[in-house]
Amino acid sequence: MNANGSLMHKLALQGVSRRSFLKYCATLATLMALPPTAGRAMAEALAQARRPSVIWLPFQECTGCTESITRSHSPSIESMIFDTISLDYQETLMAAAGHQAEEVLHKVVEENAGKFILIIDGSVATGLDGAYSCIAGRSNLDLLREVGPKAAAIVAVGSCAAYGGIPKAKPNPTGAVAISDIIRDKPIVNIPGCPPIPVVMTAVLAHFVTFGKLPELDRLGRPRAFYGETIHDRCYRRPFYDQGKFAKTFDDAGARQGWCLFELGCKGPVTYNACAHVKWNAQTSFPIESGHGCIGCSEPDFWDAGGFYKALSMPADPLKFVAGAAVAGAAVGVAVSIANRARKGAARAAHETATLADLEK
Ligand code: SF4
Repeated sequence: MNANGSLMHKLALQGVSRRSFLKYCATLATLMALPPTAGRAMAEALAQARRPSVIWLPFQECTGCTESITRSHSPSIESMIFDTISLDYQETLMAAAGHQAEEVLHKVVEENAGKFILIIDGSVATGLDGAYSCIAGRSNLDLLREVGPKAAAIVAVGSCAAYGGIPKAKPNPTGAVAISDIIRDKPIVNIPGCPPIPVVMTAVLAHFVTFGKLPELDRLGRPRAFYGETIHDRCYRRPFYDQGKFAKTFDDAGARQGWCLFELGCKGPVTYNACAHVKWNAQTSFPIESGHGCIGCSEPDFWDAGGFYKALSMPADPLKFVAGAAVAGAAVGVAVSIANRARKGAARAAHETATLADLEK
């Protein structure tokens, strides 16, 4: 193997030390809840990786996912890894256009059949046989049917690709559907969010390069390591929730003291994503830290569920009253701790059978 073509060689040229690279891989492995040895295995595999071919097809989307992933972390190692994969087709980023671009697409697909990773953002318009959304005179639907079966795996980036997203919102004039509604016999990983967190995407790519397969997924096809807990589970405002301290408006005294945003419509309790601990913009912040409740953008049907400023119609949490009494003694504190764990388990169980939309009814 020519080491000059490896990722480590490219990173070295950009001044990234092996130590930094190892540290980054260890962090990725930790975020993905892999065993301690996985960080080194990931580093070795990535260091020698020969730029896996990646084709990125944008369908019915707003380009927010591309904006998020290409801008958020530069100039971190993470963005360099993304730069260093062989991104052979991406309309928004590529210099080629017109017939030249289409020739590249078909050449890459044929030369890498069964080996390339297909990334898609945006939903698939199925109305009028896909005519609502076309690239180079061909519908997204037609293109997906041709390219999808030749991919090694598909990464559905953003809530539109994962679930249909905003284009699928009522009355869904284009007949928008998710990628998994069309392609059913390929490994598909959903990375929902509007937009999704960039590090989740690079972690999935790193996992695929390292182990040759997608990471463990949940029942909605999401990487369990990043979507295994709710925003509420990891929210730094959670102690206020447990004490029953809720902001009533966005500028009242409670809001200024960082109280819980549940009564202002926060959907953190029913939203599975990693915003609260992975955060955004190089781990700077996330919406709740900026004073706005979670809108549940990574859950199916989040737009139709609506009510961004309407509190969830979940039953009032009786435990907050127990929590209020916890100051009376350590014994009650232990009871709260046990009860909190029970509540977390119950919330998860409830979520197995209820979507955000169901909870909004
Ligand atoms: S309801 Fe929202 S703001 Fe309150 S603790 Fe949960 S996630 Fe955080």
